[in-house]
Amino acid sequence: MSKQPATPTATAGPGEVPMHLFRKAVEQAALAISITDARANILYSNSAFQRITGYGQDEVVGHNESILSYRVTPKLVYETLWAQIQRQRPWNGLLVNKRKDGSRYLADVTITPVVGEEGDTTHYLGMHRDVTEVHRLERQVQNQKTLIESVVDAAQVAIVLLDEKERVVLDNQEYKKLIGDLGKEPALKLLAALREQMGEAFGKAHEKHRNIAAREVCIETTKKTSRWFSCAISWFEEHDVGADAFYEPLRRHYLLLTIQDISEIKRQQEALRINSLRALLSEQERIQGLRETLAGAVYQLEGPLNMLSAVANMMERRRDSGVDLPAASALEEAMQKSREALEKLRACIPNQSSEGMQPVDLNEVLVDVLKLTTASLLATGVVVEWSPSSGTTTINGHPAQLTNLFKQLVTNAIEAMNERRGGTRELRLTCTTRADHIEVLVEDSGPGIADDLRYEVFQPFFTTKGAAKQHLGLGLAMAQEVVNRHGGTIDIDPSHHTGCRVRVQLPLTTGGNHV
Ligand code: FAD
Repeated sequence: MSKQPATPTATAGPGEVPMHLFRKAVEQAALAISITDARANILYSNSAFQRITGYGQDEVVGHNESILSYRVTPKLVYETLWAQIQRQRPWNGLLVNKRKDGSRYLADVTITPVVGEEGDTTHYLGMHRDVTEVHRLERQVQNQKTLIESVVDAAQVAIVLLDEKERVVLDNQEYKKLIGDLGKEPALKLLAALREQMGEAFGKAHEKHRNIAAREVCIETTKKTSRWFSCAISWFEEHDVGADAFYEPLRRHYLLLTIQDISEIKRQQEALRINSLRALLSEQERIQGLRETLAGAVYQLEGPLNMLSAVANMMERRRDSGVDLPAASALEEAMQKSREALEKLRACIPNQSSEGMQPVDLNEVLVDVLKLTTASLLATGVVVEWSPSSGTTTINGHPAQLTNLFKQLVTNAIEAMNERRGGTRELRLTCTTRADHIEVLVEDSGPGIADDLRYEVFQPFFTTKGAAKQHLGLGLAMAQEVVNRHGGTIDIDPSHHTGCRVRVQLPLTTGGNHV
């Protein structure tokens, strides 16, 4: 075993390059280079070898390369290494090496057999570099990726990452659950819903990769039920890792969609809204009832008072012609008291609610009415057929009054159907947008209204129901008043003979509406 560096015996390299140049080049190379005999005993090592391992040439020549082994590299790796190089094939792999000072590093080693003229392996060329830092960074990235994936997976909101072609790159458990409910691919359905809701703004934000703050969208599930989601979009860009993009960076954009199921919150909000609406309407109904009752009472009392007034006038004329009528002054006094009582009664009539005019969507009003009357409809076994208008259904009006109007008509329909024993109970609610007005039909399969009562039913205190049912007969009168206030018309369709069809027409133009 020689401790001297081996000197290559050849006198010249290929072409014109002299042999000493090869030696110099190897000596000064940045990679740790060593040349061994066929049993891995070191014959030569360069200066980079010393820089990396800490061993100078005179310290390693004659020693086996195993001097560098930290002895944690599995035996199988060495066996593979040797099997490969003995077949005269180069081997490349990672070995845990130990420096002269005992510190460890990860070596990316390439061993190339040197084949002699006889065809046998005479030497090995070993080249290696310290890749500890590269490995540390790779592992760090891997750890971070694992951490991010587990955080994303544990999140209570659904998260999905899409590439520029809207293909799913990454998703979490919550998102996978959505696939079961919404079918494939939930992200695309939600993006389509956002696109439809936001119109042009979505396209612009998408094109410029601008984030979109949380927006609420409604999606139909595979079971045909509606679910509400709050969706937010954020973008991030990634630099292409391909060699082509090394000097000319290419950016790839990714869309991160976070999805939160807010169906339960929405359901609670809606229940709260309907309950408040119910309370508001019943208060309005109470005030309206009071107004109508007092106004009716005043109207009813005015009749006999007018008659008494005529009698008083007559007595006055007779007294003027000399006839002594002592009752005349008593009558005059009684009438004065009656007028004062009537005025007091008039002053008690509560004011109409001061709800302002505002845009009201009649489709939405009718849906609210169905929600408000659900309990009665279910209790009476009424089958509802609801046909909303596909056109514009927004008019300028008083939302609560309009809700009350249609609630009254639906309640009338339910009561009418309830009066008849047996037979089908069907309520058809239709909203249609015409050229200059919106038409709402409320049809029921009840006994209907006789032709001669078609106008009378709108009179205050008119009722087809017995007194035992304690009906004031103010419902349709109130409905008529609300329709008038909105510049519309209400009538009972005479051509409809299988039950009752109430037709309400409300003008579309704001100018046509009255306060
Ligand atoms: P060893 O007893 O040396 O060998 C372990 C196994 O390797 C054996 O079971 C056997 O299967 C195989 N083996 C070993 N020597 C031979 C042989 N001469 N012929 C056939 N099979 C054999 N090792 C490192 O740890 N770090 C290095 O940087 C490194 N660089 C090398 C560079 C070159 C050019 C060569 C040829 C080898 C290099 N080695 C390196 C491998 C080294 O020679 C040892 O095989 C290895 O370190 C394991 O040493 P050991 O004492 O644990 O086991």
